[in-house]
Amino acid sequence: MNSYKIRQKFVEFFQKKNHKKVVSSSLIPADSSVLFTSAGMQQFIPYLNGKKKSDLKKAVSVQKCFRTSDIKEVGDKVHHTFFEMLGNWSFGDYFKEKAIDLAMEFLTKELGIEKDKLWATIFKGDKNIKEDLESFKFWQKHIPKKRIKKFGKKDNFWGPVGKNGPCGPCSEIHIDMGEGFKSGKCNLKTCGPNCDCGRFVEIWNLVFMEYKKVDSGKFEKLSQKNIDTGAGLERITAVMQKVESDYETDLFQPIMKQIEKLLKVGKVENKKAQRIIADHIRGICFLIADGVLPSNKGRGYILRRLIRRAIRYSRLLGGENNFLIKLAKKIIDHYKKIYPDLNKKNNDIITIIQKESEKFEKTLNQGLKEFRKLVKNAKRKNKDELDSKKVFHLYDTYGFPFELSKEMAKENGLKVDKKGFDKAFKEHKKISRAGAKKKFGGVGDLGESVACQHTATHLLQQALRDVLGKHVKQAGSDLKPERLRFDFTHDKALTDKEIKKVEDIVNEKIKKDLPVTFKEMPLEKVDETGALAFFKEKYPDIVKVYSIGDYSKEVCAGPHVDHTGEIGGFKIIKEKSSGAGIRRIKAKVGKDV
Ligand code: ATP
Ligand code: MG
Repeated sequence: MNSYKIRQKFVEFFQKKNHKKVVSSSLIPADSSVLFTSAGMQQFIPYLNGKKKSDLKKAVSVQKCFRTSDIKEVGDKVHHTFFEMLGNWSFGDYFKEKAIDLAMEFLTKELGIEKDKLWATIFKGDKNIKEDLESFKFWQKHIPKKRIKKFGKKDNFWGPVGKNGPCGPCSEIHIDMGEGFKSGKCNLKTCGPNCDCGRFVEIWNLVFMEYKKVDSGKFEKLSQKNIDTGAGLERITAVMQKVESDYETDLFQPIMKQIEKLLKVGKVENKKAQRIIADHIRGICFLIADGVLPSNKGRGYILRRLIRRAIRYSRLLGGENNFLIKLAKKIIDHYKKIYPDLNKKNNDIITIIQKESEKFEKTLNQGLKEFRKLVKNAKRKNKDELDSKKVFHLYDTYGFPFELSKEMAKENGLKVDKKGFDKAFKEHKKISRAGAKKKFGGVGDLGESVACQHTATHLLQQALRDVLGKHVKQAGSDLKPERLRFDFTHDKALTDKEIKKVEDIVNEKIKKDLPVTFKEMPLEKVDETGALAFFKEKYPDIVKVYSIGDYSKEVCAGPHVDHTGEIGGFKIIKEKSSGAGIRRIKAKVGKDV
């Protein structure tokens, strides 16, 4: 049975049981507090928490998912960054018994999987919530007791997302892939689900949302109980096709074959690298199709990491330039029937991969040379860690994401120090700030003038967005002792009225003497704060988000004043075009402007 048929069977089975088919949502979730859609339930949150009252009581979907948290797992048999999740839902309709019956009916009757191979797990209870005896009873309708295992919160309890909200025990269905599937040693007394040996693969998770965690930390019963399930299409396909890993299924075979052909490598040579390339190129295509662009922050940084990592692994196997492009074409071709967006975005996908690869490949060889030197030096000195400053240099000069150096170091039995890397990054900033000071004449208080201009630039950007609209984005900036220059996206000249309005807002904020504060946070948290990000900056993993009162929030390395009053005043001296769709403002700051 091919994967196409499995998707179709799944949807049709649940449609027959009166579930409404809902199409996959984008990999970029509507709720911007999370980076990517990582499970089918995300688009149903309003239904799950009962906020959205509607006729939708039962749903089925095949959801595109992306899990940044699994990047390290990729290369094994069953974890991918991008994958498809089959799921069915009940919003206040059926509950545990029927969810279990439906899952078992689908697996054994529709797909014909042998019952003897299936195992189930249930929540064993803890000090707050009792053991899930109901599920235990319902499972026994299908599976003998000895194949129903009990685990704690880590494996068999879902949610809440955040501090409180809906949550509940869950049951996982695992399949015994047989002795030959083992890839490690057993860690459980009796081998079974969750054993480290890898013989048992989790194929489906059924979440029984029946509790609500409240502020006091207690769990209350939910008034609307829900079912939320998720099954990995790749894993189920591997079971159905009786193959050794997800990569041998029809979902991955065309791409794996193309890799073998292009690299002229055999099936078994560096299997892990081949799997990583196949996984990443698939993820790359789907991310771009959903509108992600490579950058140094947030989603774009993840995309960049995937592209650079895929290139590095393909080089390891002797892949040449344009290797990724050829693979991308294969992916588009292979998936276009099911995801027409891939085909629509065909040009974008190819161009973006091409540009990004060219950029990285230019420096890759030099960077690798540099890296080998680092390893040699560390080994000669009997160190188990690479020099952090040099690792930062690899990032700054050759575009090696920190994680890439870390991974390569590990392959060489060495470590890298994240703190040291961050410190080197900070120092680098200081030096560039000192450089800026020098540019301003090297006199102490001119450093302050940089700070004034920096803070004024943040106020200006926010004021422009307030007056002209949210399309305004910084396109460049330059600070000189006598003036600041700010380029931004906007397609017509500003009227005198608009200029006056912007100036007035900035001056009002200066007068208010608003405090300027910053918070350091991991790059991926930035989106949640709603902070603006100057894209020209090269961001490290930990960035500073500067806030001016509650008026402006922006990622920046500073320096800034402590209070806006220090800026003194603000005056726009010129406004003109600076290319298509870009305007340029020159302005002065100080007490006497
Ligand atoms: P695992 O423990 O194997 O990582 P999980 O507990 O993280 O799985 P869930 O979050 O319950 O998985 O997701 C539901 C289903 O989605 C899983 O049962 C599995 O079939 C599939 N799945 C989860 N993560 C991945 C992944 N990275 N790649 C492919 N399929 C996945
Ligand atoms: Mg997981």
